[in-house]
Amino acid sequence: MQRVYLGLGSNLAEPLAQLRGALAALAALPHSHLAGTSGFYSSDPLGPADQPRYVNAVAALDTALEPLQLLDALQAIELNQGRERKAERWGPRTLDLDILVFGDLILNEPRLHVPHYHMHARAFVLYPLAELAPELRLADGRTLQDLLLACPFEGLERLPDGP
Ligand code: ATP
Ligand code: MG
Ligand code: MG
Repeated sequence: MQRVYLGLGSNLAEPLAQLRGALAALAALPHSHLAGTSGFYSSDPLGPADQPRYVNAVAALDTALEPLQLLDALQAIELNQGRERKAERWGPRTLDLDILVFGDLILNEPRLHVPHYHMHARAFVLYPLAELAPELRLADGRTLQDLLLACPFEGLERLPDGP
């Protein structure tokens, strides 16, 4: 079993319901156990500004799936919840499921980069992650606490509604 942290995001078609649906799907993954969920956060969109705010969360998953098997499963959940992949980068979406951290693994394959290439600069990833794993150290040695110090709680709001 590996401890994996996943980033969840949605800004279309009832984001709170999208995240709850995704958590139910994660809890049903084979050879896996959903070990924890952060609160829900509202965040400013990345990329194009003319789109709704996002709801984000982080989940902890213990899994015996291989990294690419997990990515396939996450993409199937995205598609099942109506995710359309468009040419525009960071456009609005019903559901985004990203692998942030996969145990101590460092992977740079065409389909999968872990730790997630941009998590260090994303408040909507780091703050919910800190609820689950404040002592986390990335495979490259950086601590979550150091990343948080360099990433202000900006454009972020912790929502009263959670999972
Ligand atoms: P970003 O990666 O900047 O958050 P995004 O999540 O909107 O952008 P997607 O359209 O969801 O990007 O995914 C594009 C591709 O990224 C996927 O097809 C997948 O193969 C690849 N990818 C690389 N690393 C990861 C990862 N750690 N988690 C999820 N997908 C990844
Ligand atoms: Mg993403
Ligand atoms: Mg993604």
